[in-house]
Amino acid sequence: MILQKLCRAGEHGISVKDLGLEKIVLIGDTIRNADFGTNRLGSLIENALGRICYSTYGITEAQLSFCECKVHRGLHSHPDLVLVEIVDDNGRTLSDDEVGELVLTPFQIEGMPLIRYKTGDITFKMSEPCPCGSNSIRIGPILGRKHHKLKVKGVTLYPQTIGNALLDVKEVINYQIEAYTGDDQTDHILLRIGSYNTKRDFLASLHDTIHARARITPTVKIEPPEEVEKRLFEGGSRKAITFKDRRFKLYE
Ligand SMILES: [Zn+2]
Repeated sequence: MILQKLCRAGEHGISVKDLGLEKIVLIGDTIRNADFGTNRLGSLIENALGRICYSTYGITEAQLSFCECKVHRGLHSHPDLVLVEIVDDNGRTLSDDEVGELVLTPFQIEGMPLIRYKTGDITFKMSEPCPCGSNSIRIGPILGRKHHKLKVKGVTLYPQTIGNALLDVKEVINYQIEAYTGDDQTDHILLRIGSYNTKRDFLASLHDTIHARARITPTVKIEPPEEVEKRLFEGGSRKAITFKDRRFKLYE
């Protein structure tokens, strides 16, 4: 909310520069794409406030956080505090730039130490020195949650990839991604888009955007944003449920 007000400060004749802000550290919202480009949310914030936004990744269980440096190419770890690994589905350690689950061994937890704690978050790591001068291992943006992994017609993806693609479409007010098991026993996706644009061209351009970024063509339903809003907070949820998993699972 404060951020929204800051972004609109210009409309009220207030120059953000006059506020004396040097850095804004964002917690919980993704502002970078997988290639470190700034997504639409990040662009909105950076256009309004300047390139002073820093993305972070925090994990309470491990008592850790990772933060971007001024180069904005990955989130730095603190090597004195944590051992960072990326593993595949079989627990094998992956090399730099290979996408897998983030596994952390924090060094500072006493009493009940965590050893190779599987975070469930999907990303990649980079070991080469950063242009900022630091040699600490960096991780990329979080690309999704492990148990949200979808396999649609042979394409593996995470719901967040679709979400990031939709962030770039101005006329999308809100959305909900629903995954279900089809009659063919594979993953299917129903994408409910909240928008006031119900034209056929818009639907076609949505399909193009999603296919370009996620390489799939889901079923898309355009609904009034108010209807989608109700779905997002169904059952009194305080957090918007942007991904609804209705897949049949024999085991986790
Ligand atoms: Zn750096």
